[in-house]
Amino acid sequence: MIKVEHLSKQFGELTVLREVNAEIKKGEVISIIGPSGTGKSTFLRCLNLLEMPSGGRIFIDGTDILDKSADVPKLRQKMGMVFQSFNLFAHLTALENLTIGPVKLLGRSKEQAGKKAMELLKMVGLAEKAGSFPDELSGGQKQRVAIARCLAMEPEIILFDEPTSALDPTMVSEVLAVIRRLAKEGMTMAVVTHEMDFARDVSNRVFYMDEGIIYEEGPPQQIFENPQKEKTRVFINRVRSLTYHIRNQNYDLYAINGEIEHFCEKHVLPKTTRNKALLLVEELLEIFSAGQVTRQFEIDLTLSYSEKQDSLEIVAESAGDYFNPFEENTLPDQLGVTIIKNLSENMEYQRVSDRNRFSMTVKKQ
Ligand code: ADP
Ligand code: MG
Repeated sequence: MIKVEHLSKQFGELTVLREVNAEIKKGEVISIIGPSGTGKSTFLRCLNLLEMPSGGRIFIDGTDILDKSADVPKLRQKMGMVFQSFNLFAHLTALENLTIGPVKLLGRSKEQAGKKAMELLKMVGLAEKAGSFPDELSGGQKQRVAIARCLAMEPEIILFDEPTSALDPTMVSEVLAVIRRLAKEGMTMAVVTHEMDFARDVSNRVFYMDEGIIYEEGPPQQIFENPQKEKTRVFINRVRSLTYHIRNQNYDLYAINGEIEHFCEKHVLPKTTRNKALLLVEELLEIFSAGQVTRQFEIDLTLSYSEKQDSLEIVAESAGDYFNPFEENTLPDQLGVTIIKNLSENMEYQRVSDRNRFSMTVKKQ
């Protein structure tokens, strides 16, 4: 359906896309992931010519859209785009946002367009908001209207550019649910996203972008569980875990807790797990401070969530002499140790070169 050959894009001196080759088949759902600034948005924008490519060719259903004779407006109509920032018309109701395109560009009658618009609003769960203006809607509702508006133009493929990154965490799932439904119904889609769990279970293929190319592509199992290339591996590990470097005793526990809460929300972990993780980290830090009075205070804290095992692992590493508070009589006060033992399982201590490494998983019950 879409074939991209040797696509390149420069902004002045800056080369963003060096050589992108890709194919998207009808009915496929492609997730596009990668560090920010690697040209994911530029790639999508080049596909529907919101951005003019510097070189290469793009075929839609066999037609070269960069050819001078190509009917660009018509080709663009085949591709819907959903942005991070919704881009709804503020002075139009939800319903009018959906009907204006079909009436003006597809030549539909008002009645036809209105009927179809109501069906689509119903499909995204917002029939009762038909008469509401965008600023009367929540972020999640606005994005669902934006998706419905896109569908009203009867696109053959939808390009999503980080559709959930401007949303409160509580509203991410309602938008993802709509995209999942479209995937199930066979809509062809390319989705730039940081929602790795979503990318894993909704897409047929994943493109990892880096260095101006599609650096690695493959089925989600490969990209998320067994990436073949080093940069992909580093990226996947980084987004799957939260690392906090603590470099002195006056650490900001509120900031650390905030990040942990955000991480748990992102992975939709139950409240009980989150609360245990918070308590575990607090006690761990206390114990390390108690044990490290004479040394430089330095801890690297890592939380990783494994979807496969549905478990949250916490690793605390500190530099310096051998120090294992979980051995008897290391600390005068055993309360913190007892709390940690109650909240965690599979506790392990390892001495790795000159570092103390504690790992544990948060207990589920
Ligand atoms: P991503 O979506 O992966 O975060 P982008 O495609 O938005 O990356 O941007 C890639 C690079 O191109 C960035 O360095 C960005 O600053 C630059 N860039 C994007 N759009 C423009 C533009 N219109 N003019 C100049 N530079 C741009
Ligand atoms: Mg972007």
